[in-house]
Amino acid sequence: MKVAVFSTKPYDRQVLEVANYDHEHDLVFFEVPLNRKTARLATGFSAVCVFVNDQLDQVTLGILASHGTKLVALRCTGFNNVDLKAATSLGMTVVRVSAYSPYSVAEFAVGLILTLNRRFHKAYNRVREGNFALEGLLGFDLRGKTVGVIGTGKIGLIFAQLMQGFGCKVVGYDLYPNPNFETVAAKYVPLSELFAQSDIISLHCPLTPETHYLVNQAAIAQMKRGVMLINTSRGGLIDTQAVIDALKSQKIGALGLDVYEQESDLFFEDLSNEIIQDDLFERLLTFPNVIVTGHQAFFTAEALRDIAETTLENITDIQAGRDCPNQVVLPK
Ligand code: NAD
Repeated sequence: MKVAVFSTKPYDRQVLEVANYDHEHDLVFFEVPLNRKTARLATGFSAVCVFVNDQLDQVTLGILASHGTKLVALRCTGFNNVDLKAATSLGMTVVRVSAYSPYSVAEFAVGLILTLNRRFHKAYNRVREGNFALEGLLGFDLRGKTVGVIGTGKIGLIFAQLMQGFGCKVVGYDLYPNPNFETVAAKYVPLSELFAQSDIISLHCPLTPETHYLVNQAAIAQMKRGVMLINTSRGGLIDTQAVIDALKSQKIGALGLDVYEQESDLFFEDLSNEIIQDDLFERLLTFPNVIVTGHQAFFTAEALRDIAETTLENITDIQAGRDCPNQVVLPK
């Protein structure tokens, strides 16, 4: 199939070309993201292949459909950036990578916790400058702390297991409980109890209309003073202004973000010589107890390989008219 691959970085191209030996699709790579302005680049392509911050709204999908595109193949798990209703009414098929190394994201979330707690980033810089003082580096034992996991699917489950390895008590909340979660000695509790009990809260649910701003002023009010909040899922789960207010009042004691609600204007590009216009984002970076990374939790060799292989298998399934287990369908 002729596929226009958007938001391509050199590492995407490398893994997709290797995975394509088994499929022989005609892949054409574009560095630009897919949006209303760039959609015409896909003229004559049966499929587009896109990533987390490509914007497949009604207008973009309309342009794609009118120029012959029938398939949207996402190189990611979340599909919050696709207007599914519009895609369905235009007769377009949407496929995603419903599973790839969940260890990549779960392990990264643990990394954020350890870094915020034990300040590896500060210690690294201090020692290089000949500063061996320990003031300001005081952490706490993870053992015995309560960790709240919101969204206990593939990533949330592994994250829960990893935190149990540290001797933490794990509590979870999910709209659709995972039978494997309680077998790892973790316990489901209502969301308000999770907020009230947890020393550390980590978000692992998808961004949907129901989960948008799940962490808002009202939710933060229910949390323990000094709570550590980790988000490796989607930026829109958190009301950034509410979190900034809570950091200022020290209600939130530490914040680790791999995702940000306006990240599509920033992430995956080198903007080190630009003036960043997003004042909320810039305010986040002023706090000593905040770490922001640029949507890199998925970025392991294993995950990239899984993503490339599944993406091309999805395209081959649809081309062959086979049922594709990774097709995204509009909920009834
Ligand atoms: P998954 O589908 O296996 O698990 C998601 C869980 O969230 C499910 O158990 C589901 O029932 C639950 N859920 C759905 N709606 C909920 C709600 N309203 N409240 C509470 N729980 C709810 O997905 P996964 O593979 O574990 O991925 C989780 C999320 O991680 C993805 O949706 C994606 O946004 C994010 N992600 C981020 C990165 C990254 O690089 N930072 C990479 C991959 C995935």
